[in-house]
Amino acid sequence: MKRVSIFGATGSIGQNTIDLIKRAPSEYQVVALTGGGNVRQLAADARALNAEVAVIADPARLPDLRAALEGTTVECAAGASALQEAASRPADWVMSAIIGAAGLRPGLAALAQGATLALANKETLVAAGPLVMSEAARHEATILPVDSEHSAIFQALAGEAPATVERVILTASGGAFRDWPLEKLEAATPEEAATHPNWAMGQRITIDSASMFNKALEVIEAREFFGFAPEQIEVLIHPESMVHALVGHVDGGLMAHLGAPDMRHAIGYALHWPARAPLPVARLDLAALGKLTFADPDPARYPALDLARRVMHRGGLSGAIFNAAKERALDHFIARRIGFTDMARIVSAVLDRTDAAPGVVDAEFTLDNVLNADHLARIRTDEIIASRG
Ligand code: NDP
Repeated sequence: MKRVSIFGATGSIGQNTIDLIKRAPSEYQVVALTGGGNVRQLAADARALNAEVAVIADPARLPDLRAALEGTTVECAAGASALQEAASRPADWVMSAIIGAAGLRPGLAALAQGATLALANKETLVAAGPLVMSEAARHEATILPVDSEHSAIFQALAGEAPATVERVILTASGGAFRDWPLEKLEAATPEEAATHPNWAMGQRITIDSASMFNKALEVIEAREFFGFAPEQIEVLIHPESMVHALVGHVDGGLMAHLGAPDMRHAIGYALHWPARAPLPVARLDLAALGKLTFADPDPARYPALDLARRVMHRGGLSGAIFNAAKERALDHFIARRIGFTDMARIVSAVLDRTDAAPGVVDAEFTLDNVLNADHLARIRTDEIIASRG
């Protein structure tokens, strides 16, 4: 039996992972399931899967969790240290699907015990790529990408010599506002931004798809995970979301990965890797689809992409700063304190300010320094927003 833990079990990726596990319960022993605040879902799944431990991030919800799991053998715990403890419990395979930089520490703890880390939490690599990759190497732990584009690249690269790769192309649907007039974007609401044309995902990543901050994170993630140079990573708008990524080789050949927009493919690939197993995802009917379309992204509509290039060229801890400023700007957008297009302007202003503090950006790549850069970027974001009156 494979011992598995799921961090962020109550979210979109977590629930898709649980769906796969529930289809073959005799193959898995569930060690830890974690949630942020959704006790009901966490308790229901911990009960159904007979988890060893259920952890809720919000300590105030611990009594509710205990009550919901009364009469079972599931241990209950809460708070950041309980998340760390759960990530340190021996497991063969750990899904990292907490949203945001909060996923970093449990991910590092899972690597430290040598687990295979299925990484949906792209923020881990954006904020702390060199640290995370060196910890994985130090503990002989494997990281498998779960972001659909990165899973696609990983699959397209199988059996290929990395030196023959000339470029990679990440596709993007273009999000909710792909076809909106540019002048309307300023007034776009969080509800409008949180509708995705093709993928069913959590609210935050869906808004990040509309702004393409999500793709910006993915570009940096591709650099950190595969080691591509910034110039090798391209982005194409592909409204149908059927081609997830393409890998171009020195001989001009392009290997594309196609599939229905269903995260259970990438999750299932990571769950069964290095084998392939049948998955309950729709099969593409290309004749019915008729055509696939592609276009270059418009930099005026998606300024986050240029910010990602800036971060990659700046290097150091600017990824941690970028991600934290983005998370905080998104909080403010969701709370209606800033507009949709303000997010990129504010993140850019935070990068300007922190570039002027090279001691932070160029500090050594330790966990403390990453967390410090993250913390500082959140403060700067709040300051910049407050100063706008
Ligand atoms: P969701 O918002 O749907 O779920 C996030 C999960 O994290 C929930 O379990 C939530 O708990 C938990 N959580 C939130 N805040 C905290 C915290 N501070 N501490 C501990 N747990 C917390 O997100 P998604 O599933 O959409 O995304 C998860 C990750 O996967 C992200 O990094 C995203 O970028 C990545 N990803 C997602 C894809 C998708 O299709 N959704 C595709 C590719 C990557 P609760 O709900 O109980 O509060």
